[in-house]
Amino acid sequence: MPMKKTCFIGGEWVPATAHAPLFSPCTGQEIAQISQADSSLVEKAIAAAHEATAVMRRLPAYQRAFLLEKISILMNERLEEAARIIAIEAGKPIKTARGEVIRTIQTYKFAAEEAKRLHGETVPLDAAIGGEGRLAYTVREPLGVIGAITPFHFPMNLVAHKVGPALAAGNTVVLKPASQTPLSALFLAELAEQAGVPAGALNVITGSGASVGDKIVSDPRVRAVTFTGSPNVGLDIRNRAGMKRVTLELGSNSAVIVDRNVQLNEVIPRCVFGAFAYSGQVCISVQRIYVDKEIYRDFVEHFVEQTRALRGGDSLSEEADYSAMINPRETERVLEWIHEALLQGARLECGGQIVDRMLQPTVLTGVPADAKVSCQEVFGPVVLINPVESVRHGITLVNDSRYGLQAGVYTNNLSLALEAVEELRVGGVMVNDIPTFRVDHMPYGGVKESGLGREGVKYAIEEMTELKLVAIKR
Ligand code: NAP
Repeated sequence: MPMKKTCFIGGEWVPATAHAPLFSPCTGQEIAQISQADSSLVEKAIAAAHEATAVMRRLPAYQRAFLLEKISILMNERLEEAARIIAIEAGKPIKTARGEVIRTIQTYKFAAEEAKRLHGETVPLDAAIGGEGRLAYTVREPLGVIGAITPFHFPMNLVAHKVGPALAAGNTVVLKPASQTPLSALFLAELAEQAGVPAGALNVITGSGASVGDKIVSDPRVRAVTFTGSPNVGLDIRNRAGMKRVTLELGSNSAVIVDRNVQLNEVIPRCVFGAFAYSGQVCISVQRIYVDKEIYRDFVEHFVEQTRALRGGDSLSEEADYSAMINPRETERVLEWIHEALLQGARLECGGQIVDRMLQPTVLTGVPADAKVSCQEVFGPVVLINPVESVRHGITLVNDSRYGLQAGVYTNNLSLALEAVEELRVGGVMVNDIPTFRVDHMPYGGVKESGLGREGVKYAIEEMTELKLVAIKR
């Protein structure tokens, strides 16, 4: 009988009246029974978080830092267990899952460090006529209850990007993880309990996005909603959130431009990694590659050769580079998009088949710009490689998108690199790297339909605090 999991509310493990089975993406077998919180349980969680704001806002910085440091230490001690949880519930190959846990440990550590750096600045009021004779400064205050809604594909680290900064700033959290990946969030709750996080400062409620998510977004006690997930849900949250702060980390069809003069033996393996890590279920996965026409054929040939060498397998296998996608419905959707591109004139260079539940890494060339695999977010193991006349031509194609999260440009021409930096309409430009590059303290977020606001611990803290001005008349 699979284990029954409960919610974590007000420092206690609270079961819901209803449970739903959680299935493994790789085997289709049931792995746990998950509490499906109803509105009374969500109410209880929000009330607990609200009550705990009084404790958290008074907790000194060194104690907030200590708690986050402790979570980081405890996770490090249980690194392998954490990686297995991700591998089992998200179908993420164990090698990749381990990488996620290592990053998560660092994210909590960054949060611990940032907790000590929460400060304002002095303001020279006497710069204005009538402002003289005053001392003025700003302070950053916690908002209160933060509603965090997270997706399936980085179930530990994207949770850390919300919980870490929220606690660092003295807020409390109601966390609703993706229905497919509740175990990672409940694992964090265990660590937080063990670390001594005050009761009610972190609450984890599992259940359907529509009902649990809706209550979090509409409750007036929740002062900010931080959401990572798909653009449609993000926009809906924005429209319903009223006066709440909203941070949205949404999708993208990220692209990289490859100039003619680069070292292909370095660039190609990196692009293969960016396209197919976790079967492309990464918001900054490389989806479009624009290669200078002079090196195009060479690039495609080697890229396909290296893609064919990737090994599929169960997510717990040390050999697996890729596993099954998150569910069969998503796998079928991506396959349909591949077929649509082929009907529109694209050429299949490799992949395009489902074998043992796994969609093979797929490379397409000659893809028209209006094919879904080009203009929408694939979120699957598909990459297109098209030739371009120049880096400038590539920049135009990258910008021809509803999205703008990150972009990459490989070139040895400094002035072209700087032109790309200036012209690309994205939240982050990676020169001589893929758009998939991310470390956890850098500012991260998108423009256009890729989102609002920035994560990266220090930047997320800015979104989760209120700036208060103090002016003292002498
Ligand atoms: P999703 O379907 O939008 O789900 C994300 C979260 O929202 C889940 O917890 C989901 O709960 C919840 N949810 C669903 N409907 C809701 C509603 N009406 N109100 C409130 N919450 C609701 O996204 P996903 O499939 O898990 O993740 C993939 C997407 O995330 C991709 O588009 C990807 O690009 C994007 N992403 C962006 C970033 C970034 O930083 N920019 C990072 C990672 C991922 P249920 O699971 O219960 O439905």
